[in-house]
Amino acid sequence: MELLTWIGQAAKRKRDYIERAEDLADSMASLEKLEDEMSGRANQLSRKLAAGKITFAEFQRTTAEDVLISALTAVRLGRGKQSKLSDAAYAEAMGQMQYLWKFFEDIRKALDQGKIEYGKVDFATASEIEEDILGLISEDDMNAEPGKSIPATWSGVRARLDRYLVTPAYRWYNAGEMTRSQELGASEMRRVAKRDKRCCRDCLDYDAAGWQPIGSLPVPGTRCRCLDRCRCRLDFR
Ligand SMILES: [Zn+2]
Ligand SMILES: [Zn+2]
Repeated sequence: MELLTWIGQAAKRKRDYIERAEDLADSMASLEKLEDEMSGRANQLSRKLAAGKITFAEFQRTTAEDVLISALTAVRLGRGKQSKLSDAAYAEAMGQMQYLWKFFEDIRKALDQGKIEYGKVDFATASEIEEDILGLISEDDMNAEPGKSIPATWSGVRARLDRYLVTPAYRWYNAGEMTRSQELGASEMRRVAKRDKRCCRDCLDYDAAGWQPIGSLPVPGTRCRCLDRCRCRLDFR
């Protein structure tokens, strides 16, 4: 399925997606719960595709919907219950789809090249998957956009799926929280870097900028080389 085809279909279901995200947010106690839920979905989706239990088109549609729902739910969690998801939040969440479609292309290439095969399942244990996810963070990966390399195993597909369904939730949650803080009257923000060895140069620069007018610093997970793995914290006052 082409990206534009999906976007056209999604446009007709926008109201439905927003309602689903609002309901999901209401049933979730925290961002961590959402991450667990999406991790479970990533696991299911990759296993079903690997086993040939769903078609590639079904995999694309379901994954794209879940990526959208994950982002919208995280925004809603950050903004607080009772809040309404805006058109702007929806449009921004849709902005991820071009990267997701590059990932779909990578999976297709891996299938064409015989790196992975339907029915030939090589899934690793949960801890190996975790290592796989962490292992992707080399210096080169830090500079790469998602969707640059071709997965060599099904557990590689599974690990990469997390980068669309699970890890971005943090960024969306922070975006929601920023909106809420603005509504509550905060006028300044700062981005505090998590000073571990995974923290990138960009994040240290934002950290050094200190307090700035609210809305003038990018939320964690955007405009930094850590991308979806950024775990900078936002403070408001
Ligand atoms: Zn960073
Ligand atoms: Zn960061």
